Amino acid sequence: MSRDINNKFWDEELETLPREELEKKQLEDLKEIVKFAYDHAPYYKRSFDEAGVKPEDIRTLKDIQKFPFINKKTQRDTQGVGSFLGELAAVPEEDVVFISTSSGSTGVPTMSPFTKKDFDEFQETESRWFWQIGMRPNDRYVHALNFSLYVGGPDVIGAQNLGALCIWGGTLPSERLLFILKTYQPTVIWTSPSYAWQLGEKALKAGYDPKKDFNIKKIIVAGELGGSIDATRKAIEDIWGAEVFDFYGLSDIFGACAAQCEYHDGLHIAENHILVETVDIHTGEILEPGQTGELVFTTLRKHARPLIRFKTGDIGRIDTTPCKCGRTHGRIHILGRKDDMFIVSAVNVFPSDIEAVIREQSDLTGEYLIRIFEKDFTSKYAVEVEKATGVTKDDDTVAAEVSAALKARIGVKPARVVIHPDGGLNTRSEHKSKRVIDERNIDYNI
Ligand SMILES: [Zn+2]
Repeated sequence: MSRDINNKFWDEELETLPREELEKKQLEDLKEIVKFAYDHAPYYKRSFDEAGVKPEDIRTLKDIQKFPFINKKTQRDTQGVGSFLGELAAVPEEDVVFISTSSGSTGVPTMSPFTKKDFDEFQETESRWFWQIGMRPNDRYVHALNFSLYVGGPDVIGAQNLGALCIWGGTLPSERLLFILKTYQPTVIWTSPSYAWQLGEKALKAGYDPKKDFNIKKIIVAGELGGSIDATRKAIEDIWGAEVFDFYGLSDIFGACAAQCEYHDGLHIAENHILVETVDIHTGEILEPGQTGELVFTTLRKHARPLIRFKTGDIGRIDTTPCKCGRTHGRIHILGRKDDMFIVSAVNVFPSDIEAVIREQSDLTGEYLIRIFEKDFTSKYAVEVEKATGVTKDDDTVAAEVSAALKARIGVKPARVVIHPDGGLNTRSEHKSKRVIDERNIDYNI
């Protein structure tokens, strides 16, 4: 079947399902997956029994609230226990065709197994996101993401299934990638936001004009928050003359579980696959849709390793009001990782808020480093930035302006602002940039 390329929807019926019907479908799948998990995954049998709950207790979507949470630690503690895939897995190993693993940046890497059906549905979802941002079979697409172990690697298959011409770029050195952009004239690329920006800078330094020498019309970014920060998205768009779309994925679920549409107001999440809850960051109390807290996901259709009430560690909210694009699946707004958030003078501060301020200052390059430290038994933060080449203001004036802008946006001033020359900060990286250094002596256990 060939699709009408003028239809804005990949799967119109699914994407525009009235919420009542969408929730009915969620409930059917929830009942099935909770029972499947209980019957086949030793961990869920034990934890449901201990909590005194049974799969039959699910009569409405809200009934999920009776069931216990799991988190990253549950995954780490149960993998390899009893079998290679561990106690959260609900299928035998011979039914598994693919595993991805997390980066392990917050501990032991955790693996995420897929059955053939899980994997096919994963790619169907990825095709839907690519179509949503306007990719069509006549596009040329460079997938410039790490392929090794990473769940975002196979997403390229979603673009191929859509019919686009795909170039499996991986993490090529910048010079090779720029050569490909020039020679093959691809129209869509996916990479991290910091790399999209740095690649643009490198292109300019190498004598290319990304707007004229390349043909990039759309840039997908994921893995860092930048794509949801308007100032960062605009900075990337200005270099490339292309539209930037933010995607959000979890190694535990899909390479992209959610994606922006043309209105860039939150990311549509695949609610046919994921039931979203939000809980208070500190108390775990269940919040209403629209309130900001930790996002908790239940996977509705993944059978290899169902996740029932998985605390993601991401702070955000879900907006289920209608989107102008006509899609009925809710939009998530992510503020940051729970472990990146810090508290200064009783104010919750996210590095993404600081980034938004820095990227709006025309005297700065946009690179930054945040240091969090303890003084007099209270947390403070300092910000290091680079003054752009050609700015004639003295450093003290620039520092005072940055400090005032941070105070205005966040509510608390930084303890200090350090000004470096252009290129003076060592934060440029080819993958995820390390921009927050926590110097406090605190033991984090998530
Ligand atoms: Zn939309």
